Amino acid sequence: ALEDQLQESIHRLSQTNQELEQFAYVASHDLQEPLRKVISFSDIILRKHAEQLDEKGRTYFDRMINSTERMQTLIQDLLNFSRSTRNIGDRKSIKINNLINEVLEDLSESIHEAKGKVKLKLTTETTINGTPVQLRQLVQNIISNGIKYRKKDTNPVLKIKTKIIPAVKLEQKIPLLVSEEFIEITINDNGIGFDEQYLDKIFTIFQRLHGRSEYSGTGIGLAISKRVVENHNGYITAKSEVGKGSTFFIYLPVETKA
Ligand code: ADP
Repeated sequence: ALEDQLQESIHRLSQTNQELEQFAYVASHDLQEPLRKVISFSDIILRKHAEQLDEKGRTYFDRMINSTERMQTLIQDLLNFSRSTRNIGDRKSIKINNLINEVLEDLSESIHEAKGKVKLKLTTETTINGTPVQLRQLVQNIISNGIKYRKKDTNPVLKIKTKIIPAVKLEQKIPLLVSEEFIEITINDNGIGFDEQYLDKIFTIFQRLHGRSEYSGTGIGLAISKRVVENHNGYITAKSEVGKGSTFFIYLPVETKA
């Protein structure tokens, strides 16, 4: 009887959870369109009717556009978060090395702007079975954080490595080892770092350790990353030291040949 009650509670909880996630998805999706309008009309006013505004008026419009753009980022991140819970998309055979290179290509502008350097040591050609959009987002979140959380007076240097490790090394970390081998992706930065006692916190949605005014962000990226890794039966963790830098470790099961 106790077991039945427990089952019933679990069922109800997961239903509520699904409804909540559905709500987050629909709300963020539907908020996008009106927000786009606010931005585009404010932009038109600033570009075509600027002379009808005085200095103050223009400043206020500028601020309005900035805030609205921040809201847009937040909504986009929320949408990505709820997508990551749904595990949508077809799984494919993916070469992790190619994926890392593609992400670096996408981020090349911000890396260049930060005068950043990337050192690659991609020692394996292994493939994994996964959802490309999600995995790309995972890698992109970690790499772009490595650039973003840089020290003010230092050029960011990222060291990215891939290698194969046996699954037994992850026995304590992953409940279900779906492959005998895992690919280990390490992404190391020389940035501001964080206190390791907050390790769990950084992977939780909306949790941020660094000042809002200094480093822009929504606190959603690493929560998405963790979900994506778990959707792929993997594991993610990090090591860090304040003022020295951080290293993120991603483990994903190597594709097994059927
Ligand atoms: P966001 O960057 O939008 O705040 P994330 O979920 O990506 O959100 O990261 C959560 C928090 O973890 C960040 O606010 C930051 O305090 C910390 N963090 C993440 N990556 C790094 C890093 N490479 N170096 C230092 N701190 C980091």
